[in-house]
Amino acid sequence: MMEEIRNYIGGQFTEPQGKSYLDNYEPASGKVYGRIPDSGAEDVQAAVEAAGTAFDGWSAMPVTERNKFLLRIADLIERDHDQLAYMESRDNGKPLRLASKVDIPRAAANMRFYATAMEHFASESHHSPGMINYTRRSPAGIAGCISPWNLPIYLFTWKIAPALAAGNTVVAKPSELTPCTAWAFSRLCKEAGLPDGVLNIVHGLGNKVGEAIVGHPDIKMISFTGGTTTGKRIASVAAPMFKKLSLELGGKNPNLVFADCELDEAVRNSVAASFTNQGEICLCGSRILVEKSIYETFLEKFVELTRTWKVGDPQDDATRIGALVSREHLEKVSAYVKLAKEEGGQVLTGGERLVLEGDLAEGYYFAPTVITNLPMDCRTNQEEIFGPVVTIMPFDSEEEALTLANDSEYGLSATIWTTDLSRAHRVSDKLAAGIIWINSWLLRDLRTPFGGWKSSGVGREGGWEALRFFTEPKNICIKL
Ligand code: NAD
Repeated sequence: MMEEIRNYIGGQFTEPQGKSYLDNYEPASGKVYGRIPDSGAEDVQAAVEAAGTAFDGWSAMPVTERNKFLLRIADLIERDHDQLAYMESRDNGKPLRLASKVDIPRAAANMRFYATAMEHFASESHHSPGMINYTRRSPAGIAGCISPWNLPIYLFTWKIAPALAAGNTVVAKPSELTPCTAWAFSRLCKEAGLPDGVLNIVHGLGNKVGEAIVGHPDIKMISFTGGTTTGKRIASVAAPMFKKLSLELGGKNPNLVFADCELDEAVRNSVAASFTNQGEICLCGSRILVEKSIYETFLEKFVELTRTWKVGDPQDDATRIGALVSREHLEKVSAYVKLAKEEGGQVLTGGERLVLEGDLAEGYYFAPTVITNLPMDCRTNQEEIFGPVVTIMPFDSEEEALTLANDSEYGLSATIWTTDLSRAHRVSDKLAAGIIWINSWLLRDLRTPFGGWKSSGVGREGGWEALRFFTEPKNICIKL
């Protein structure tokens, strides 16, 4: 039976007012398997009204009371772990194994982290002769949270949890490509007894629901994760309205491998950084730079290991790479590989769509692809592909590695492989990116600031940063 998703507005599960729906495709099979509300501005309006009505009660509730709801939701996510992981894998195309290990546990962790963080959040006090200042941080009102399809419930909760913990009410929109776990999440919120209207979820397209959220005068802040082009559009609407903006955007992250690294570790983790989640993680290392003396050895080992990463049915435990999220995305990735060849790139492995058997024959599978022989200034090396495609280039010196790594409009993250401690510090100091990993990738501590430099975004999420974003400071000065 086809699953029909509903909006979650004012505590009710509602149809879109226009009664219009969009098809939801299963990436593994390329078949329609559900319907999503094709909501409009009128549904966003209803959500904003519900969030406005709920604000006074929610923002005035003691933190310890508010947070009981979030902790209860975290427990329910854990209770439904298997079902949610299956849903996420089916909706996005990612391996079930990955959804089970990463996406769902992280969604529960996000709720728990911010529920408890809020209890420890403190604001500043400044003493000087003759006066004392203290800063209050109050919830700012209604927050708009918009998230992408690559880590659906993981990123959805990463925004919603701090927004709610800080005492705001929320109007949220998941990606229209991966709405299922947000739908399940709304039912868990209801079961947890979250007061009506505190969280409202409106499903639908970016240019309808997303635009209506961003442009709504009663929504005071926008937390957005998605593409840089969308981020520009959002900023152009929200900035003249003086909304608070947090934009987590695209990346084209360099992965620097120095000759003094632990080579096998570097290869194993670089393959994971390239192809985990089909390469559809903003933090994936898509430009690999390798010191010339180990370049050939690295290439050989990297390609050999890449070929062992099985592309297949997301539900199969042996699968490392599932299906890309949509037909359009498959076409985009294919077009980039074609472009790379036109630019003179040499495809060492992969480079083509894979057609699986039986029910999966129409699924969106693409072989993990390794490309060499490209200069840094070509489009393949400058534009975000966001698929299982990496380029590998040699460098002669640390200086050249830094020049190549920083030659990008993006600045989200970077990884360094070296056993030389001084080099690790020196290079990380000079890399123009918001997140640097040394001898690791995707190691996360939720207390750290998360976000990008340059076209990779504005503002930071994570830890206190998110709680500062979701509150308005007010300084109070007392003459002594
Ligand atoms: P996208 O920008 O197309 O869509 C993201 C969300 O914005 C979706 O919910 C979409 O419906 C909505 N949207 C689209 N147009 C809108 C508009 N005009 N106004 C308001 N909302 C609108 O991005 P995507 O394709 O879903 O996700 C992939 C991108 O996200 C990649 O560029 C990736 O790097 C980026 N990303 C960044 C991070 C990070 O933390 N920096 C994390 C994950 C993904």
